[in-house]
Amino acid sequence: TISAVPIADNEPPKSYAPNTEERDEVLEQYRDYYNNYLEVPLHIGGEDITTSNMASIVPPHDHKHEVGRYHLATKKHIEQAIAVAMKAREKWVALSWEQRMSIFLKMADLLSGPYRAKIVASTMLCQSKTVHQAEIDAACEFIDFLRFNVDFATQIYSEQPISSKGIWNRLEYRPLEGFIYAATPFNFTAIAANLCTSVAMMGNVVVWKPSESQMYSAKIIMDVFRESGLPDGVVNMVSGNPEMITDTVLNSPDFAGIHYTGSTEVFKGIWKKIGQQIQCYKTYPKIVGETGGKDFIVAHHSANSQEVATAISRGAFEFQGQKCSAASRVYLPVSNADEIIELLKKDIQSFKIGSPEDMGNFITAVIHERAFDRLANYIDRAKQSSDAEVIIGGKYNKSKGYFVEPTVILTTNPNYETMETELFGPVVTIYKYPQENWEDLLDLVDKTSPYALTGAVFSKDRYAIDEASKKLENAAGNFYINDKPTGAVVGQQPFGGARASGTNDKAGSPMNLLRWVSTRLIKETF
Ligand code: GLU
Repeated sequence: TISAVPIADNEPPKSYAPNTEERDEVLEQYRDYYNNYLEVPLHIGGEDITTSNMASIVPPHDHKHEVGRYHLATKKHIEQAIAVAMKAREKWVALSWEQRMSIFLKMADLLSGPYRAKIVASTMLCQSKTVHQAEIDAACEFIDFLRFNVDFATQIYSEQPISSKGIWNRLEYRPLEGFIYAATPFNFTAIAANLCTSVAMMGNVVVWKPSESQMYSAKIIMDVFRESGLPDGVVNMVSGNPEMITDTVLNSPDFAGIHYTGSTEVFKGIWKKIGQQIQCYKTYPKIVGETGGKDFIVAHHSANSQEVATAISRGAFEFQGQKCSAASRVYLPVSNADEIIELLKKDIQSFKIGSPEDMGNFITAVIHERAFDRLANYIDRAKQSSDAEVIIGGKYNKSKGYFVEPTVILTTNPNYETMETELFGPVVTIYKYPQENWEDLLDLVDKTSPYALTGAVFSKDRYAIDEASKKLENAAGNFYINDKPTGAVVGQQPFGGARASGTNDKAGSPMNLLRWVSTRLIKETF
């Protein structure tokens, strides 16, 4: 069949090479944000709302320097946001898809042009991303989500059932009857934006709670929404006590769904609450969430050692390991392990650590003190354990920023705590297995963790690849063969996992968009 729907091209990342205009522009924006104080109000129905309570915004790599504050909502503000969203819904659901679409395409163009330096610099400053990590997230992935989802939605709307003589069948892809709650993470600006825009694109209205650690770029996202012509009240941004906000939202009879990325524990708590309150809702709420990961790299003895080492150093340490997809448990065959570890050590020794403002740095700070302390604890315990040793890195310092060295733990126990628990930081654990036990190893990999987000297998042996692919069929929603487990690209590798990692409604795909429609079938006889 011939599809009339164009499929977008991926936004190419800018290089930010020395002496380029793009580099100067993003640095100037970064310094401007660093030196000027920002106040982030609540944003409800097109209005900026200030409250009497505020919390501090600081760069994680320079935490004594306050760059702004965000306002904290009361329960009343959340109830107001819900009421305003429901009012805005009356007109938003009545717009045709074509009318809505141009808003999201304009958003993509604003981000590709005048907002690019702003969204990238704010992500560098307050989420401590290097310019390259900020670019592939806040610019490229955000833009890709918008453009690809517009094409996917166009495809969805054109899917119609068969009609026959005297009968015309048609499907209406209607928005859900109520509002959607978007509760979003700090680690990807693009994910925060997409959890709102994918839902709004399908005609829904949103109450959005950004992570408290992402309030700076959240404000820039809100500015882009506004400038693109998104009508007031379609996305309402609220910040404050997360439990209070979630409880208030879940108490509303108009709550029609949640689009979530964050921890497994919080997500399960939300699911439970929805279950307990199921009698109070007008409609069964849709529950879509991406939660944790304990993502693996498995090397077969036929693998290329350099390829494995590079996958570990990139997959485990880019953005300080704070991607749900980050490699955090590694299985190396005894025969190749020492060579791979040597290559890995060389790579890690070349990493510079510091502020993202110095673009030569590859590693910057972890997100906040809680994350820092938790990582320091795991590293200390490994140093003292008889089951494990720290073989690379292991130092940390929080005097200026929350800096943790890229750290490699070697363990003799495949169930050692850092092989099982998600750490969400620059720490990876290696276990060496006897190379002749490939099949047993695959069983072990499958059973070690409750998560199933990403995983990678390295091998040059087609039979070994096939075995891994079959034995690990439920162990990773995104399974990579001879590549690192991070860096999924919208339109190419739809992203999401199962088991304790989420509902696997692949972000950046029609599968996700279909969760946000309630379809009406009309049969007309004439
Ligand atoms: N999509 C990202 C990747 O493939 C990870 C997203 C996340 O951390 O939630 O690396």
